[in-house]
Amino acid sequence: MLAPAAEALGIRFSVLAESADAPATQVISEVTVGDYTDYATLKAFAETVDVVTFDHEHVPPEHLAALAEAGHAVRPGPQALIFAQDKIRMRTKMDELGLPNPEWATITSLADAEAFAERVGFPFVLKTPRGGYDGKGVRVVEGLAEVDEWLRETSPLLAEEKVDFTRELAVMVGRSPMGQTAVWPVVETWQQNGVCKEAIAPAPGLSAERATAITEAILTVAGALEVTGVMAMEMFETAEGFLINEFAMRPHNTGHWTQDGAVTSQFEQHLRAVLDLPLGSPAAREEVSVMVNVLGADHEDLYQPYFHVMAHDPEVKVHLYGKSVRPGRKVGHVNAYGADRDAVLARARHAADFIAGIDPDPYPDRPAPVDLDALSAEAPALEKDPR
Ligand code: ADP
Repeated sequence: MLAPAAEALGIRFSVLAESADAPATQVISEVTVGDYTDYATLKAFAETVDVVTFDHEHVPPEHLAALAEAGHAVRPGPQALIFAQDKIRMRTKMDELGLPNPEWATITSLADAEAFAERVGFPFVLKTPRGGYDGKGVRVVEGLAEVDEWLRETSPLLAEEKVDFTRELAVMVGRSPMGQTAVWPVVETWQQNGVCKEAIAPAPGLSAERATAITEAILTVAGALEVTGVMAMEMFETAEGFLINEFAMRPHNTGHWTQDGAVTSQFEQHLRAVLDLPLGSPAAREEVSVMVNVLGADHEDLYQPYFHVMAHDPEVKVHLYGKSVRPGRKVGHVNAYGADRDAVLARARHAADFIAGIDPDPYPDRPAPVDLDALSAEAPALEKDPR
């Protein structure tokens, strides 16, 4: 999704893809297929470009540091990226910056887990500090036996209190090396089984004070970590305020609404930021924008429902990723916008779920069937045969 933005900006864009059939290869002509965990491959690729950036956080930080050391412009830099890669480093840093963390602890032994359970009680949340995504690597544990089981495989683990949140929120910022920043409106997000399903911009009913506090928090993080590019901050909203969940230092699912709903999309902004160009306006174009993910269900062929959705609602915007369908996999998203939040949400949900094949009632707003008997009863009797 960075590719169309690069094209519009007139930027040469090439990609290091992990396989010849990776989705990016379908839309980008300059593709190198190679292993992003191999330093020599990364180095050879970096030689061919002015600036290196990423669309996921799994590139080994030591390789990025070595590239930066060798004089390549790596954006965001490894010093910032590490806080999206390692959740223990992130929690430590948030405490240092005085930003709102849930209760947390590093767990390397059962004694650590016991001490943490004394503080917050069971159940609590246990996470692998690195490599998790879409809720993989996150578990709610009810007792020490479960902690023990996981500790045998992975250590250290991150323990967090199970936050009693009213809803989840997210916010994104763009920041350039020269230090210019632009923050988009705060969105409400909804995760289904740990996977982002919906985002609503702006977050309904969010107080101006809280929106300002959230904006200040993300600006503090972006400045302190010297982030370049776009960054997402996911949060839990509670009765008292908000707590930080995690960061992503790249275009993020909770910012997909900006493609159709903001003056500058997160993809364009990421490119402007990593190239140290002046940033675009993050203002919303629409009163309400909604993004709903198309999560794979049990049918492979998305074409028929995709066709139907376009015919049914010419105003929704469908974005498909060219990925094969697997249950629960993010294969696309739908953006809808307008003035009436409930109506916009209903349209986006209908479209996304209909494409995936999830909606049990494909025509929720169809007119009631015509009652032929009632019609004929009401019809005036014919005087005579008109023939
Ligand atoms: P990932 O890195 O896989 O996206 P997250 O840490 O964001 O994982 O967790 C996925 C989801 O699990 C969150 O969006 C939230 O719904 C739930 N979750 C994570 N941490 C907590 C917590 N401390 N308390 C309550 N729910 C949590």
